[in-house]
Amino acid sequence: MGLRVAVAFGVVAALGCSGDSPAPGADAGVLAPTPLEGHARILWVGAHPDDELPSAPVFQEVCARAECVFVSMTVGERGNCHLADGCQPDLPTVRRAEFAAMGRYLRGEVEIVGLPDGSAGTPEGVVGAWAARAGSERALVDQLRALVERHAPDAIVSFDPRHGTTCHPDHRATGQLVVVAADELGFDRDAVFLVESVIVGVGDTEAIGFRPADPEDPAVAVISIAPRFEAIVHLMTEVYPSQFAAETVAGIQTAGPDGRTWSVLPVTEAVADRPAYRALCP
Ligand SMILES: [Zn+2]
Repeated sequence: MGLRVAVAFGVVAALGCSGDSPAPGADAGVLAPTPLEGHARILWVGAHPDDELPSAPVFQEVCARAECVFVSMTVGERGNCHLADGCQPDLPTVRRAEFAAMGRYLRGEVEIVGLPDGSAGTPEGVVGAWAARAGSERALVDQLRALVERHAPDAIVSFDPRHGTTCHPDHRATGQLVVVAADELGFDRDAVFLVESVIVGVGDTEAIGFRPADPEDPAVAVISIAPRFEAIVHLMTEVYPSQFAAETVAGIQTAGPDGRTWSVLPVTEAVADRPAYRALCP
């Protein structure tokens, strides 16, 4: 697969609310049923504020009915600052406010764990840095277990540790830790969902938007988010203005139907050694 996940990395790093009022598109078209359908309490765990972005059209729909909690492992203190007047008083403050605004827009609680952002170049390095902060790897997993128990979800959504949507080590570490914590808690593996969307092409190819990491994996559900794609644009422009340059927004808006998809896989169906996944990230 010629997926340019690494190249496109800057997109989500570059992809990043401001209003309290329901946004344009909030009552837009209806998506086909997703595997989140029927769950009453949904927990998203990302690494940075804005990591939920590729899933936003789905959350916009399901969180109108279900209770949703959005957790970010870091405040994203090493993120972008695209605000014309700079990020005042500092980037963490801006990103906390943006994440809170996202929670109002998608109608969920938000929580930031506060682990360091961008601490290492590999998922193992990130787990190590986060473990050092927590006291030990055991303490880190316990922290996540406590988080899951406190929010008591009946479905969990996070990154697939095999690619983390953008290959970002923080994303991959987050997915890995979530799966470990959920397994230790005996959480139903059919209700732990990995986002299989990867971001391709913005800025460097004709293939633009969100695609399944392994389009040949028969277990992956690929759902059109075209009816609610505006939720992504709204988040980029109105909710996370510090994170997205105008040209990134313009790029994502040119995505065709194939790029306006959300891909997801329950952990039960994630086959660790499927070669296509191994080839995705450096
Ligand atoms: Zn991220």
